[in-house]
Amino acid sequence: SGLAAGPRGITCDAGCRAFDMYGIVTDDVFVAGDVSRFPHPLFGYQLLSLEHWGNAVAQAEVAAHNMVSPGPLRRPHLALPTFWSTQFGLNIKSVGVPTFSDQVVIAQGSLEARRLAMVYGYQGRVTAAVTVDMAKSLDYYTHLIETAAPFPPPPGAADRAIAADIPIPSDVPDPKGLSHGPTVALTGHLPDRRLTLVQPGG
Ligand SMILES: Cc1cc2nc3c(=O)[nH]c(=O)nc-3n(C[C@H](O)[C@H](O)[C@H](O)COP(=O)(O)OP(=O)(O)OC[C@H]3O[C@@H](n4cnc5c(N)ncnc54)[C@H](O)[C@@H]3O)c2cc1C
Repeated sequence: SGLAAGPRGITCDAGCRAFDMYGIVTDDVFVAGDVSRFPHPLFGYQLLSLEHWGNAVAQAEVAAHNMVSPGPLRRPHLALPTFWSTQFGLNIKSVGVPTFSDQVVIAQGSLEARRLAMVYGYQGRVTAAVTVDMAKSLDYYTHLIETAAPFPPPPGAADRAIAADIPIPSDVPDPKGLSHGPTVALTGHLPDRRLTLVQPGG
């Protein structure tokens, strides 16, 4: 297709416009949902691939708006990533990007109680929260992420007693080490350099 497509999707700008394989934004190809890979300013402009129903709906609304709007009226896709699931009878909800973190703290509840809220931080800012059977707290943590609130969150800031835990390293894979794009090679000479795809093992 000539687009910046790889195993993690098609890279686009925050307005859902696809990049071509050179990293140049196209004017009339829009992507949304599972197939897209987009930068989010709250998470260091890192390219996110999200496979959640809620993101697909919110991003499609932005893509549709931008398709019919001239440049200055275009909107960015800035919805916070969120999803929930039920596993082994436990209600698990997540907001933000837990992998965009260097520390995590159990801010409410405990492992023993099987009810807790884990808050993730990156370089002193709250970037994500995951609750287990404590979904009521999620709105509060959403606000902390949206406002780039300091990490760890201050004691007593939530509507329940804070379980005074100390932040520990979140130990997520370094995103710089996760490259799933196609391998390309430069051809030609300046000013007309081009790219060709390098086949796996080729
Ligand atoms: C088993 C399972 C469970 C899930 N559970 C949850 C959940 O609990 N909560 C949650 O938030 N998300 C869940 N998801 C993820 C959620 O379903 C997706 O994030 C969402 O459907 C993405 O929507 P989309 O429109 O981007 O893509 P899709 O829903 O995949 O739609 C893409 C469409 O494009 C069509 N298509 C593909 N190729 C072509 C082609 N060449 N030409 C024309 N049409 C084509 C496909 O047939 C499909 O209909 C789950 C996914 C799976 C597989």
